[in-house]
Amino acid sequence: MRVSSGIRAAMLTMVTVLLLSWLYAGAAEGAEVKSNEIAAEQKYVIPERPTVYLTFDDGPSKLTPQVLDILKEHDVKATFFVLGELAEAREETVRRIAGEGHALGNHTYDHEYENLYSSFLHFWEQVRKTDETLTRIAGQRVRLLRAPGGTYTNFDSHYFSYLQEAGYIIHDWTLDSGDSKRRGVPAGEIVRNVKRARLSHEVNLLMHDGSGHKGTVEALPEIIRYFKGKGYSFEVLTEKVKPVTFRVGKLKWNRSMTERQHEQVLAAIHEASRESHPMLAARPETDVSRPVQVLGKTEDPEREWVALRDWASGKGTVTWDPVSKTAALAMGGTMLEFSPNAGKAVRLGTVAEQSAVDVSFRFENNRLYLLKSEAEAMLAQAYQTAAT
Ligand SMILES: [Zn+2]
Repeated sequence: MRVSSGIRAAMLTMVTVLLLSWLYAGAAEGAEVKSNEIAAEQKYVIPERPTVYLTFDDGPSKLTPQVLDILKEHDVKATFFVLGELAEAREETVRRIAGEGHALGNHTYDHEYENLYSSFLHFWEQVRKTDETLTRIAGQRVRLLRAPGGTYTNFDSHYFSYLQEAGYIIHDWTLDSGDSKRRGVPAGEIVRNVKRARLSHEVNLLMHDGSGHKGTVEALPEIIRYFKGKGYSFEVLTEKVKPVTFRVGKLKWNRSMTERQHEQVLAAIHEASRESHPMLAARPETDVSRPVQVLGKTEDPEREWVALRDWASGKGTVTWDPVSKTAALAMGGTMLEFSPNAGKAVRLGTVAEQSAVDVSFRFENNRLYLLKSEAEAMLAQAYQTAAT
């Protein structure tokens, strides 16, 4: 049985290599097929005018309709990071938020720090549950996400990467109104906090519309007037807005996952990534007639960059997710993911099988390129191994 398992391992390697090549190719193809959309997706738009994103966390509550009235009166839009649990209790308010042109965001289901940050699995379950709730109530898939308490000291890089991979857009904030510093912060103090701050071109202002935040409601008109006076425009958070996230800090939490849980997470992330947003370019590539595209000028064939679609066409179906900016390919139960932004290509399987794929690549003009010599060397080696 040693021999057969050796062959199996070799085959696996080869499959991985092939998957890798199709992945690159497909992603490049995706960019070509839908270049406009991807170009739009991949570029955050810096607004011309200074812009403030008013954000309200922890609702909806009985204060939320008052907030909505004020926003309407001043004709400005905001973003509401709601709790799934409260959304269920105030469906009408959630529909009003969406109906009046504000953005909805996911703030987890119950905001319980202990639970949320003791294991990613718990966090994930809460996010999904809230996601489903909001889809049901508001009829829209909500991708914006804000971590209760913010990401700093709560999120590790896994939280970030899993959530981003699943298509969520994580926002912390640039300016804290200080309205949740303690219970019952008065309006005057909230206004002062805002006015005291140095303003950036894009301000993501943290406020709360959960119960107990009467001061925020009272401060809101003055805050709106203040930003209007400074020439700011008011927008909702969208995929075009460059997310602000805090750096990863030393965690407040001890957490661990069993291997089994880790596998569960990976599978769930995958499924979400496939389901939750439109995948582009999921078409099999069969056109091998186009010339190989070389990126830039090179005299050295060793340094030839090739669009992978051209290099390995006709072998697989690839999907490109414009939100997480990840190309993915599933074949034979294996999933390969390629994230140009993160600068990594990985094969996702069980934890034990997950591995980095080691080929130089670059992403330019919405196309994925890889170093042809390395790709071919890798492929040749895989064949050799398989044949041995
Ligand atoms: Zn919160």
